[in-house]
Amino acid sequence: MTEHQRQAPGVRPGLPHTELSGFEPELTDEERALQQAVHAFAADVLRPAGRALDRMTAEEVVAPDSPLWEVFDIAAKAGLTAEPEGEDIPPAVLARMTAIAVEELGWGDAGLAVSLGVGGFPSLVARRTGDAELMDLCAGRLGCWIGTQPDRGSDGLSLYPGERHPSAPHGNKGNLTAKVQGGDIVINGQSSAWVSNGPVAQVGLASICADYGEGFYDEEGHPHGIEVIVPLDVPGISRGKPLEKLGKRALPQGEIFFDDVRVPLRYALSAHDAYWRGHAATWSSAGVAMGQLMTGLARAAFETAVAYTQERRQGGALLAEHQLVQYRLGRMGSQVETMRAVARRATEYTVLSPARHPYYTAQSKAVCTDLAFQVADEALQLMGGNGLTREYPAEKLFRDARAARIEDGENHLLTMKFGHLAGLLHQDGRLGAART
Ligand SMILES: Cc1cc2nc3c(=O)[nH]c(=O)nc-3n(C[C@H](O)[C@H](O)[C@H](O)COP(=O)(O)OP(=O)(O)OC[C@H]3O[C@@H](n4cnc5c(N)ncnc54)[C@H](O)[C@@H]3O)c2cc1C
Repeated sequence: MTEHQRQAPGVRPGLPHTELSGFEPELTDEERALQQAVHAFAADVLRPAGRALDRMTAEEVVAPDSPLWEVFDIAAKAGLTAEPEGEDIPPAVLARMTAIAVEELGWGDAGLAVSLGVGGFPSLVARRTGDAELMDLCAGRLGCWIGTQPDRGSDGLSLYPGERHPSAPHGNKGNLTAKVQGGDIVINGQSSAWVSNGPVAQVGLASICADYGEGFYDEEGHPHGIEVIVPLDVPGISRGKPLEKLGKRALPQGEIFFDDVRVPLRYALSAHDAYWRGHAATWSSAGVAMGQLMTGLARAAFETAVAYTQERRQGGALLAEHQLVQYRLGRMGSQVETMRAVARRATEYTVLSPARHPYYTAQSKAVCTDLAFQVADEALQLMGGNGLTREYPAEKLFRDARAARIEDGENHLLTMKFGHLAGLLHQDGRLGAART
């Protein structure tokens, strides 16, 4: 009970109901149990490991004695996979539970949350196919998603030929391509240095341009593609040096090189005319997870700022007693609530709608990561000079939030794609149709 309530029992409004994650209507017992278990893992394992890894070099992060391996071990023992398993859980319940759990992981450490999420991604996608061989290929193996290349970043996210600049004769096939020859897929080239878990992954989900025997482009100049599971211990695979970068330093990233890597065509998840639909469905899932976990990061930044303002005195009073500071905290809290609402709505849409689309989920990623950056920036600002030092968590949260505005698609580009989708819906008579 607060001092305020003690002074006026029954007269003043009591404090509202809140859960760990804020202004939730009461969670169910199962939801609360899951939230508390993941929160304990985030607080006891992810936070300390994330802080330690952040200060190491990229080479040290992936070295045999790195704390990274203990994180993976504990997560595997606790059964923390990319999506809670359970065929008998109704999709709506599963969607909520996943969002609740992923937010807690992001609260613990956003870089490690990505590493764990993408680590289970090939396995998750393979499970959705129901194909026993693909599931076996991925089970128990640390995964990665191989989408971008040195010369093909945003271009890999263009689902429609109409998005290409009018001056470009055809799309961009990039530096990592597949040739489908008989029953085999032969892969050559290299990924970008940005592949999350690239230096350590044991299995990859590659989403790349493909030639099925008639060239890389269709009659509209749009590239053909293939989504394929590649075990990363097959001949012809090598890795680059782990990448040094500004934020999410606990997340190992690096190039993967392919020299005549040959896998059977039955390892493909989507091929030929089904590729762009498959790629779109896979990408939808990733965008949703980013919104959830960055809500957790922003909540961590908000909590840090609230606590700091209850300790620091300036202007003759605690920072928290100044109305301008209360306004700034209020704005941060609203932004966290907005992020959670947007992330949960995108989660529900992706799981429950008859036809999901990554240009919708990608805008939710852009909204959530831009807001997370604003919250982390304001947390740092509220802490004055202390916010900039390594003594306090704000500067790491700020750097981690910054990376997310480029990760999984750069935010301006993603927002532009949502605008493109709006135009397509209008042309289909479903958005902004003239009033009759
Ligand atoms: C933390 C992190 C994790 C990542 N994880 C992975 C991963 O697991 N796997 C993977 O494959 N990749 C991964 N990436 C790569 C990421 O997907 C790309 O960095 C991102 O898609 C942007 O591509 P790019 O860096 O090549 O930038 P570019 O595509 O070169 O874009 C540069 C700038 O140009 C603008 N631009 C680009 N195209 C257009 C256009 N058509 N019209 C107008 N403006 C345009 C963009 O908006 C941007 O501001 C990760 C990146 C980060 C930062």
